[in-house]
Amino acid sequence: MPHCVVCAIASGQLEAHVVFENQHIVCFLDHMPINEGHVLLCPREHHADLTDLPDGLLAELMLAAKALANKLQGCLKCDGVSLLQNNGRFNELGHFHLHLFPRFQGDGFSWVSRGSRLASREALARVHDLLRNAGE
Ligand SMILES: [Zn+2]
Repeated sequence: MPHCVVCAIASGQLEAHVVFENQHIVCFLDHMPINEGHVLLCPREHHADLTDLPDGLLAELMLAAKALANKLQGCLKCDGVSLLQNNGRFNELGHFHLHLFPRFQGDGFSWVSRGSRLASREALARVHDLLRNAGE
């Protein structure tokens, strides 16, 4: 495995501002936050993407996201939080992580920088059929 920043943090080789950790997961502040309080939630074990993450770890990470969302809202008095996860070439760290960050009215963050478009009924039906017929 090539050098992995998250593995280095998880093993204590690299310093980070850890806000929650246990035997399986480590959650620390992103050093390039979307907003102050931006947390990365990661499994300690190296898994690249959502599709290769064991179900138990995913569940544990989502429960940590819920607990940390409550803490962010309580401590930072934000208007809400956003949860984001990238895979494949969009996973900038190469190690599975959830982004959880506080949101404030008028903070300027936009999910879809190119703008979303109204889908046609045909496009919705085509993707619907692909997904419904794909099996497990
Ligand atoms: Zn890693």
